[in-house]
Amino acid sequence: MTKNKFDLPNYRKNELSDLAEFIADEYFYDSLICPYKLLKIYGITYSFADYGNAFDGLLEYRAGKFHVYLNSHSVKHKYVPRVRFTLAHELGHYVIDEHRNALKKRLVSPHPSFTNFASDNEAELEADFFASSLLLPKARLLNDIYKRKFSFNLIEEIAAKYQTSIAATLIKFASIGNHPIMIICTINRQIKWFKYSEDFPFKYINYTGAFLVPHNTAAGEYFYENGIKSTEDEIVFAQDWFRIGDRNDYGRKFYEHCIYSDKNDFVLSVIWED
Ligand SMILES: [Zn+2]
Repeated sequence: MTKNKFDLPNYRKNELSDLAEFIADEYFYDSLICPYKLLKIYGITYSFADYGNAFDGLLEYRAGKFHVYLNSHSVKHKYVPRVRFTLAHELGHYVIDEHRNALKKRLVSPHPSFTNFASDNEAELEADFFASSLLLPKARLLNDIYKRKFSFNLIEEIAAKYQTSIAATLIKFASIGNHPIMIICTINRQIKWFKYSEDFPFKYINYTGAFLVPHNTAAGEYFYENGIKSTEDEIVFAQDWFRIGDRNDYGRKFYEHCIYSDKNDFVLSVIWED
């Protein structure tokens, strides 16, 4: 199987998850994780201001000190899930030894980070996964989903409880959840990335042309049929979304639930089998 360039190997995910969980339990044992409090604890300063479209977040090392820049552009306030995630991501660059040391030794220059999960840069994937794991610690998530059947409502419930975005919640769920799921991000008809639980039965997308979203899918409906949106779980079949190796998989029934952003021409699909 070829490596999915939009995801990290499992051993690395486990290391990052353990690191994040340790920090969450150390400082927020029975409370919601507050990344701003961690800044204080680590002695990192920050600014929250409008930087246009330059970045969502940026960690800078200057004169022996770390500083985080958080972009307030088109966000309501600094506690919305998106900014919480951006800050958790920048904290990842500080807490992960290799990242912090590279910044200190100036092996890498400060890089703009975007909270859209669209990067295939390894350091960005690591900081993203760390951020999801910090805000949604594994043991708490496992406890919340214990004996619960997977549904999109469950993801919304967890996202509301931990003040995380749906995307961040799905990514963490895919890595440790109790039900295999696939998450696919499509922007402007093109599949940007996908991530899946280890035990999800299919690993390849049945794309057309230049990685274009397949037609007979809920995401495809939005892009090919004048922006049709569905708030329900849509039924799709294995061959609609995935490349099928075994003929017996034709007609295998899945559910697809989408979230949309018209402004960004963006659809996030989550796909699961009953
Ligand atoms: Zn980053």
